[in-house]
Order: sequence, then C-alpha cells, then structure tokens
Amino acid sequence: MPVSVVWFKRDLRVSDNQALSEASKSPHPVICLFNIEPERLERNDVSEIHIEWELDCARALSESLETLGAKLLFNFGNVVDKLSQIHQQYQIASLHSHEETGLTWSWERDKSVTKWCKENEVTFTEYATNGVIRGLQSRDHWKSQRDARVDGELITTPVTIQSPENLKSDLIPEAKELGITPRELEYRPIAGEKAAISVLFSFLDERGRKYRSGMSSPVTGREACSRLSPYISTGCITIRQILHHSRRKQKKVRINPRSAENRGWTSSLSSFQSRLAWHCHFIQRLEFETTMDEIAVNPELDGHLERVHDEQRYQAWAKGQTGWPFFDACMRSLIATGWINFRMRAMLQSVASYTLWLPWQDTGLHLARLFLDYEPGIHWSQVHMQSGVTGINSVRAYSVRKQSEDQDPEGDFIREWVGELASVPAEFIHEPWLMTQEQQEMYNCIIGKDYPAPIVDEKVSRKEGVSKSYSAKGKPEVKRRSSLVYEIHGSRKRRN
Ligand SMILES: Cc1cc2nc3c(=O)[nH]c(=O)nc-3n(C[C@H](O)[C@H](O)[C@H](O)COP(=O)(O)OP(=O)(O)OC[C@H]3O[C@@H](n4cnc5c(N)ncnc54)[C@H](O)[C@@H]3O)c2cc1C
Repeated sequence: MPVSVVWFKRDLRVSDNQALSEASKSPHPVICLFNIEPERLERNDVSEIHIEWELDCARALSESLETLGAKLLFNFGNVVDKLSQIHQQYQIASLHSHEETGLTWSWERDKSVTKWCKENEVTFTEYATNGVIRGLQSRDHWKSQRDARVDGELITTPVTIQSPENLKSDLIPEAKELGITPRELEYRPIAGEKAAISVLFSFLDERGRKYRSGMSSPVTGREACSRLSPYISTGCITIRQILHHSRRKQKKVRINPRSAENRGWTSSLSSFQSRLAWHCHFIQRLEFETTMDEIAVNPELDGHLERVHDEQRYQAWAKGQTGWPFFDACMRSLIATGWINFRMRAMLQSVASYTLWLPWQDTGLHLARLFLDYEPGIHWSQVHMQSGVTGINSVRAYSVRKQSEDQDPEGDFIREWVGELASVPAEFIHEPWLMTQEQQEMYNCIIGKDYPAPIVDEKVSRKEGVSKSYSAKGKPEVKRRSSLVYEIHGSRKRRN
C-alpha cells in the first residue's frame, strides 16, 4: 500500500505547515515521522537541554496529530535506514519536509535523503522555512522575497489525516531512555505549538507593551521580551504566524495609538517586527556558508586577530567566575535558565572575544549549548558580529561596568545570581574589589576568597582588544574581503 511520509524536523507543529498540508492532499495514507540522529548527541554544539526540549515538543506534536487522526512515528537512528524500513513495509510514494538551514552535518544528512529518494524513485519535496530563500542569487533581492513569503496567507491545518490502518504510533521517549542525563532548568517553558500560541498572545495582550523600553535589561527583559525563541527554533510556531497576529494587533493600535489602552504599543510592535526580520536575515547567512561554526565569514580578518585559548580565562568566563559581578550574574542566570536577553548575550560574547581575547569558536560553542533556543543561523552570525570577524559591522566591545550600571543600577539582579555578593550594598556592587578589607569583612565577601578578584583589568584589556581589532580591520586585504562579505551577507537597509 503506497504512503506519503511527512518527515518532521524543526517544524514540530500542525498549523501553518506546508509539508503536512501537501501530504494530506495526496491520495495515499500519511505516515508522520520524527527522527533524532544519535550523532547529534555527540556534537559539541548540541546539549541535553536541546534534545529534551525537542522530545517535549514532539510529544505535544504527537497529541495534535492524534486529534487529526494521524500517528507520529519516532525513531532514534539514521533517517535513511528508517525511510528504507518504511519503504519496504509500505512503499513510499512521496516524502515531504521543510528546508533546514543548518551546519554542514544537517546538509549532508539532507543530501543523503535526497540521494536515497532518487535511487528509490520517491518524490521528495522540501518546502521553504520562514523567510530564508534557498538558492538566492543576490542579497539585493532578498528583502522583497522574504517579505512576500512571511506576509503570505497562513496555511490551513488539515481537517483529518489518514494514517495506514495497521500503523501504531510510538511513545516519544524520555531523554534518559536515549542515554541522555537530563539537566534541570530553573525555568522550563511548556512545550508545543499550543503553548507557543499562548506565549505569543500573552505578549501581544500585555507583556509586549514594554518591549521597546524593557528589552535591554536582563530583569525587565524576562517579561518584556516575547520569549518565543525556543518555539521558533523547533518550529512550534512560524514567523508568518507571529507576524500575522502582530499585524492584527498593530491595526487595532493604529485606530487610536494615543489612547491609554494602546500606549507604548506602536514603537514596541515596530521593534518586535524588525527583530523578526533579523531572524530571517541572519539565518540567510548560514544558508550561504554552512561552516560558520568553524570559519569566520571574513577569514582574512580573523586570521590577523590571532586570538589565543587561555584555559583559566575560558573557565572563569564559562562558569561566571570572572570577578565582574554583572557579567557573572548574566552567565549564571543563563546557565540556570537557558535564556538571557539579546543585549546580555552580546555582552557575554563580546567580553570573551575583545576583553579576554579568546577564540570565538570555543566560546560560541559554550553559549550554543546553554541557549535553549539554539538556532545555528542566528547564533553563529551573532557570534561573528559580536567578535568582530565580519569586517562589515562596527567594532562593539561591551563594557561590563557600563552595562552593570545601566541595566542593574541597584545590583538586584547581581545579588539574585551571585550569592557571594548578597550583602554587598549598591555602592560597591558593580566593583566589589574596591572595598577596603574592613568593608569586605563587614559585607561577608572577601575578594579572592569568597568571590574572585577580576580576572583582568577590564578597561585596559578591552581597549587593547578594540585597538587590535581596528588595526586588523583596516588592512587592505581585509578590506577587500569585507567588500565581498557585504555583497553576500550585508543588510541592504542602510543603502536603501
Ligand atoms: C551571541 C548571540 C547569540 C545568539 N544566539 C541565538 C540563538 O541561538 N537563537 C536565537 O533564537 N537567538 C539568538 N540570539 C538572538 C537574540 O538574543 C534572541 O533571539 C532573543 O534574545 C530571544 O528571546 P525572545 O524570543 O524573547 O526575543 P524577542 O526580542 O522577543 O524577539 C522575537 C524573535 O525575533 C528574533 N530575534 C530577536 N533578536 C534577534 C537578533 N538579534 N538576531 C536575530 N533574530 C533575533 C528571534 O527569533 C526572537 O525569538 C543571539 C544573540 C547573540 C548576541
């Protein structure tokens, strides 16, 4: 009996899902498959929190599919082997999935599936994901193509999906059944597309009003940011769905933007929508260069920087033990919760690259493992930008001291995450090493014993990093490469 197969990857939803919708129109029963490759567990950018989150989302997907009459097969193994097995049992007429923009390994996996389909005369259709344009000829035309895509009509969820009668759905395993030691997060979002929609609505109903003013602080950002990223990265929700609802809100606000009910929304919605455009813009970069986790988009510039791995610096940075309270609070909060706001992510990476002069590959991997929302295209593009290895972005080295005073003036966030400083008053919270010995004793925090002394002099080291970066950026061969990087990857917004 021929069947159509939907291969779910990072599109764990039934709504606005073209692969599922097209498969449901085929004359054959539909098999839904979700596969996790064991080699992913070995990858150094993937951590246990990612796999647990995917399994949770797949469990929610399985329930949604059941309400449509369909069953979800789960496989932990090689996807080609699983397809061969299904093919032997049923004969696959067509395979449907979404395009995935990932690092080299996922391209290789997808190519092996294409090859297998050709060899077995299975029609394989891959549908576009969000605003990433496969085979884009020039960045000049990217924005109009992306906008047309994400502003398009939502795809209707099939009313029913018929699976083969004798097919049994698999229980989605717990992470430990795959040999993964689970890691508890202090905050773990509810998984799945229904939860994604309710997070979106809670943002558009009220939380998002303070998006513009609250997004930069790790304290206000927790509420004011949409917190949609883990859902977007596993495809529980699409950028088109988010834009659709955010535009509806915008229409309502435009009727009377100055009313008390609508105050704050105009600028917040506009900032939010530009972040959604960045999402696609940055993933488009990885679509062109799948080795961004290893090779800088501007290798000439990166080569001149010659950053060095220093294990002591790396460990202090990675564990939030640098002796800079605000930095340590941000890193420890990220380790505990799997999320931190954009500005603080930028600071974490920039401190590693400019102030501590560590290679971006190592520090980028550490952050990738910590972010629950790890999205390779955004992540590696941002790591490159915040490390100054693109040649087309300004050198922006964050000062921990400035961020600390701007974002956490009273030190509440610091005290929340750096218990050693719990009794230190606001006067010294940003630079506790300035306390006298007597004050350190009085506030129960002996620097160098209870809490580390600063790993380096922040101001001096940051300045050194910035100056080395400017001098590398100005070299003629680097500038030539930077022009090329702009042609391929640069945002055309300013030029327009
Ligand atoms: C070094 C570094 C690494 C990052 N790694 C990731 C990552 O792995 N996954 C990830 O989703 N985001 C990453 N970001 C971007 C950004 O920090 C997160 O998208 C954001 O903090 C997620 O929270 P939110 O969903 O509440 O965002 P919101 O501010 O509510 O934004 C909504 C959505 O817009 C997109 N977005 C927001 N900011 C950016 C941005 N600067 N660039 C591209 N898209 C953006 C995301 O899809 C986000 O979910 C990284 C940023 C930096 C500086």
